[in-house]
Amino acid sequence: MTRSFKKHSFTPTLLVALACYSLTCCTPRAPHPVATRLIEQQYGVLKDPLVERYLEGILVRLNAAVASRRQSIVPKLTLLSTSTVVALAPDEDTILISQGMLRTLANEAELAFVLAHERAHQQLGHTALDVDEVSASKRKSLELAADQRAIAVMAAAGYDPRAAFGALKRTDVQDSNGLTNRADYPDLEEREKAALSFLSGSGWLPPGTVNRRDFVMVQRHLADANRQGR
Ligand SMILES: [Zn+2]
Repeated sequence: MTRSFKKHSFTPTLLVALACYSLTCCTPRAPHPVATRLIEQQYGVLKDPLVERYLEGILVRLNAAVASRRQSIVPKLTLLSTSTVVALAPDEDTILISQGMLRTLANEAELAFVLAHERAHQQLGHTALDVDEVSASKRKSLELAADQRAIAVMAAAGYDPRAAFGALKRTDVQDSNGLTNRADYPDLEEREKAALSFLSGSGWLPPGTVNRRDFVMVQRHLADANRQGR
């Protein structure tokens, strides 16, 4: 059964049950547009064509590495203005990522991992699951599955998949961010171990790109825009 989001008043506590990663995964089927709109209202939307084009370019590159035509559709991407470090996939074709996430990561390959992780939740069907029907242990296994698919896709797209470890460390879920529930996520150590095991068995060999230069330019652009109050 799908819970009706409309029956509840919006609170950050309720969002804890909805959202994903440092990256959530499991959201009720019907109310996705409502959840997305409420998150956007709560955390603010930042309209910045330069940053949006940059993010979309990464998604296009990641999608080009995925064989299925259906799965290669580029999702709608929204930049949240909050400093909270978060990325979410509230439904199968929307990704929300915060300015705080962009400030926290170190290079484009780490960002590619974060976007690929959210995309993996969508492509693996996790966003169609009813959060109330999924056990805590199952939610953790969904996170590990999304990590592994993200590593595979970013490597296929030519990124250095070892950047996943930096991204996991920097974005380890905090209890207090209001958008994610720590209990839904494996410990960092468990995620790193599973990611390393997957990467070791994947047959991947260097090189892969990291692209720190473009990423830092985007970070500086955001910092300048914030200073100027844009
Ligand atoms: Zn996730």
